[in-house]
Order: sequence, then structure tokens, then C-alpha cells
Amino acid sequence: MTDRVTDIAVLGSTGSVGRSTLAVIAASGGRLRAVALSAHSRTALLAQQAVECRPRFVVVTDGEAASRQDWSDLPAGTELVVGPKALEEIVARVEIDVVLAAIVGSAGLRSTWAAIAAGKMIALANKETLVVAGPLVMDLAARRGARILPVDSEHSAVFQAMQAGRREDVRRIVLTASGGPFRNHTSEQLAHVTIEEALAHPTWDMGPKITIDSATMMNKALEIIEARWLFQLDVDQIEVMIHPQSMVHSMVEFVDGSVVAQLSPPDMKLPIQYALEYPRRSPGVAERMDWRRNIELTFEPADAQRFPALELGREVARAGGTTGAVLNAANEAAVAGFLKGELAFGDIVPACRDVLQHHDFDPSPTLDDLIRLDGWARQEVSRWVCT
Ligand code: NAD
Ligand code: MG
Repeated sequence: MTDRVTDIAVLGSTGSVGRSTLAVIAASGGRLRAVALSAHSRTALLAQQAVECRPRFVVVTDGEAASRQDWSDLPAGTELVVGPKALEEIVARVEIDVVLAAIVGSAGLRSTWAAIAAGKMIALANKETLVVAGPLVMDLAARRGARILPVDSEHSAVFQAMQAGRREDVRRIVLTASGGPFRNHTSEQLAHVTIEEALAHPTWDMGPKITIDSATMMNKALEIIEARWLFQLDVDQIEVMIHPQSMVHSMVEFVDGSVVAQLSPPDMKLPIQYALEYPRRSPGVAERMDWRRNIELTFEPADAQRFPALELGREVARAGGTTGAVLNAANEAAVAGFLKGELAFGDIVPACRDVLQHHDFDPSPTLDDLIRLDGWARQEVSRWVCT
């Protein structure tokens, strides 16, 4: 193991995962260095991050937001580049060792794709990339020698636990889910929850889209699909258990019946650090377990009736092809509609199922087919929106 500095491009540095990543880098004692930062429209925060991190590049994907911002305080060695195409070029540059992909939604697909095509090490938070194009992404990674390390806490836990045995001896994995704020709501109550209620996650502090996904359990559906492609598992090898304390981040069951779990307080800085420093472990800034107090860990089966997103996730993980792109885009549009007050919480998952049922299934689409369907599915959701 050398002590060479790892140069990192942080895509989505102004978001929840992006900010936690900068905290991990700042605490690394110089081993980790941010050489590129990207944001869409929060340019004031991006400019401030640039002053603190002195990266080689800052990238703004929203051109209008870039032109409104005063960049006069940018450090002398930092270059501003604008637009999504520029981001795809930056991630491929030779000086970048690791690309931390933390843009939210399928907007993160092309830049992650470009980084994989360039053979980079990918620390992947943007689960939507695997949901939309899992088989194509994994195939590209294999061909270009790009390693994809999960940042999503459940997948990081599975990845860590898998190292306790041989890959062929894994019987199944158990993804844990906090259950979100509505774990004990009836179907009737679920139909009428408000935006504020849905944004109040009990254990995790995250961006708005994934927080709503946690409340509908669509997040776990997306994670089933993510796990299916990332670990090349059959859908029947992926279980989900509700674990409200969010301390056991997931588990791997081996053929002999032994179950290996990974535990830590709910703090994304740990899986981020693990992906950035893999296979090394070093003292970090993530919160630690406090073994002096009583700790209660409970697990219960997920209720498929009240949370129909889970079954939808299984169906899509099984069908593959174009279904992941359609489900993901429909969900992004439905969540955006809900956050604007134009679509009821209880309609998010039915809208996704409806759009999925109406699409022209193709078992082996190209990336362009998937991107076209992404646009189509967003349009279709507008039929569910009341303005
Ligand atoms: P966030 O909304 O807090 O941040 C999103 C980031 O993406 C911002 O930096 C924003 O500028 C950028 N962005 C938004 N739209 C963009 C666009 N069109 N083009 C380019 N950049 C754009 O989101 P987050 O909660 O940090 O989540 C980021 C990703 O990580 C998501 O895929 C999410 O599912 C995943 N993830 C997040 C957490 C968490 O704790 N927040 C945990 C696991 C996985
Ligand atoms: Mg997760």
C-alpha cells in the first residue's frame, strides 16, 4: 500500500452526499484530495467549496446558474467549466483517480458513464445509474477495467460483508430499510401524507428526492435493482427487512447459514470513506457506535401491501431491459410532482406502475434507447399531475 495522494472528482459536491464527501476528504490528512467539484445550480455554495478545497476544476452543469454567479473569488489555480458535456470530459482526465458520483437521478448517468468508459475507479452513490442501465454499465466497467465501489450504505455493507467468504458461497443478501417516517401508517393514512411529513426522515439526513423515495419505499425498490446488477444476484437472493434503528446496514448470508452484518451509526461519511480509501481503513470523521448504552436492534418483514413499491422493484429487477429506465424516470417525475404539490403521495407508486405497463418493453436496449425512454416516461407521468 503506497501513501500516494488519491485525486478525486466529486460530482454533485453541493448535495448531501457531496458535502459529506468533502468532510471525509478534509479529515484525511492530505491522503485524499478533491481535484474537481461539480454542481448544477447551487453555485454560491460551489464557489465557497472551491475556495476551501482549491480544486483544479469546478464544473457547473446549469449554464444560466453559472452566468449569474460572481466567480471573482475562485482560487488562481481553479478553472471554471460549464455544461454537462464539459463534465463528461473532466471525469476522463488522467489526473483523476476516483470519481465520486453523487449527482441525484438519471441526470448523473452520462457523467458516470464517461468516467467508467475512461476506466476510472467509481465510488457510486448515484444508484439511478445502475437502475436505469445496470447491465450496460456493468458490461462497460468490465471492458474498460473500471471498478465500481458502492457508496449506498446498504450496498457498502453487503460489499464489506462479502469479504468474509467466497463469492460463490453467498446464499442471499438482506437489505435493511429504516421503513421511513410512515412505517406504521395504514394504507388509508399513507394516501394523504403531506410534503413536510414525507420530508421528515427518522434516521437519515439526505437530499429531498431520496428522502421521498424512503417514505414510499421506492428507495428500497431501487436498491433491490441496484444490488441485482452490482452483485450479479438473482432477485430471489435479495431479501428486505425493516430495521428502524438504521445501524445494521445490510447482511450477507452464506451457504452454511452464517450471516455477516455491517454495523455503524447512520452516517454516510463511513461508506463514502470506505469507497474512497478501499481497501484501506483509517480513522475517520464518521460517528462511532457507543457501546456504553443499551442498543436495541429489531428486524421485521416489510409489508408488501402497504408498500407496493417493493414488489414493483422486484418485477423490474427480474424483467431488466427497458423497465429500470422507465421506473426510474417515472418515479423522478412523480416525486418532483409530489414536491410541487401537484400529485398525491399515494399516487407516486401507482403512477410508476401505470407508466411501466404502458411502455414498449425491449429486453436489450442501447443507452440511447434508455435515455429516450427516460424522457418519454417523464411525459407520461404528467397525465397523473393535477395543476
Ligand atoms: P442532493 O439533492 O442533496 O444533491 C444532488 C447533487 O446533484 C447536487 O450537488 C446537485 O447540484 C446535483 N445535481 C442535481 N441535478 C443535477 C443535474 N441535472 N445535473 C448535474 N448535477 C445535478 O442529493 P443526495 O441526497 O446527495 O443524493 C445524491 C445521490 O446519492 C442520489 O443518487 C441518491 O440516491 C444517492 N444516495 C444518497 C444518500 C444520502 O444519504 N443522501 C444515501 C445513499 C445514496
Ligand atoms: Mg441506501
